[in-house]
Amino acid sequence: MHLVKIASVRTHILHHDLERPFQSSFSTFRDRRHLLVEIETDTGLTGWGECLGPADINAAVVQAMTPQLLGRSPLDIEPIWLDIYNQFRDQGQRGVIHTALSGIDIALWDIAGHHFDAPIHQLMGGAWRTSFPAYATGGFRPEGGDHATACAKEMAQYVAEGFKAVKIKIGYGVESDLATIAAVREAIGADVELMIDANHGYDAIDAITVGRQAAKYNIHWFEEPVVPEALRAYQQVRQGQPIPVAAGETWHGRWAIDEALQQDTVQILQPDVCGVGGLSEARKIITLADIHHVRLVPHVWGTAVALAAGLHFHAILPPAPPSHEQRSPRLEFDRTYNPFRQEIIQTPIEHENGMVSVPTGPGLGISINRDALQRYCV
Ligand code: CA
Repeated sequence: MHLVKIASVRTHILHHDLERPFQSSFSTFRDRRHLLVEIETDTGLTGWGECLGPADINAAVVQAMTPQLLGRSPLDIEPIWLDIYNQFRDQGQRGVIHTALSGIDIALWDIAGHHFDAPIHQLMGGAWRTSFPAYATGGFRPEGGDHATACAKEMAQYVAEGFKAVKIKIGYGVESDLATIAAVREAIGADVELMIDANHGYDAIDAITVGRQAAKYNIHWFEEPVVPEALRAYQQVRQGQPIPVAAGETWHGRWAIDEALQQDTVQILQPDVCGVGGLSEARKIITLADIHHVRLVPHVWGTAVALAAGLHFHAILPPAPPSHEQRSPRLEFDRTYNPFRQEIIQTPIEHENGMVSVPTGPGLGISINRDALQRYCV
């Protein structure tokens, strides 16, 4: 029997300039730019992965890792992960080593799925659910625009589409944020879940002020109130205001997440499968969340490749706690403008009345549209 080997690793930087730039608390998005990783075997199997974060740096790191992949069996996913990590550990315990490794790891799981003709969630031990509710992510501040008005209008639109939960951006100043939160709650009504995300735009003092005053609007969670390395500030925010605190999209790898959880920073943990170290590492984070008894609600951002990988991760999240009335994890569904998010796959991953289904085809369960890929590749 022929032993399948990795024959090539390619990086694809996708880019689109935005006509209407938008802002989080600290950055201005003037374009959409994401990195896909394509790994091909000598038997003609192809796997796709995606890296969270700066596409160009991720591409360079993936290319630096490529010699360690060529000629190896793509099915040796865990040995490859650890061998690469070992080589980069000394300068890479956090950050782009993990985000680059994530894209590689996801592509290898995609290949394994095609090799064994099974969806990734099946290979990873089986799904607890085949579909789940999504929440709409958006509500960035338009550059130069009125956040409260724009955000309220945008969220009302998502609710009209069928979403039962929405997340908005804050971190633009205490008074301005409270006005936006009030306007959004008014626009979406009492029954829709509302989350706020400061993208670590506050210090602990202002975050506590916002949390105390926003609590009356029934906020489901307060995401990234403070910078991710300030673990003690997270403790202060948790203790100083009543809204559950969420974070984790920038804590890469099991050690970083364990450190954050040991310090009681959050009640809701948000690892991103394209940043934390791929599906292999994400599975280990499930165990950490279980041991530390925090709710796991993954972060998702990027193209349909990231979305598909996220869906398989959601599928394998065990019910916590087990009960007759299980609380399903919610999928983060980015609704901000990105023309290639869905165009790069043959069948878009869409929600139906706020619900999204887990792909059932082999691997990630998606087919890349090469023409669209070509259009957006730089
Ligand atoms: Ca976030």
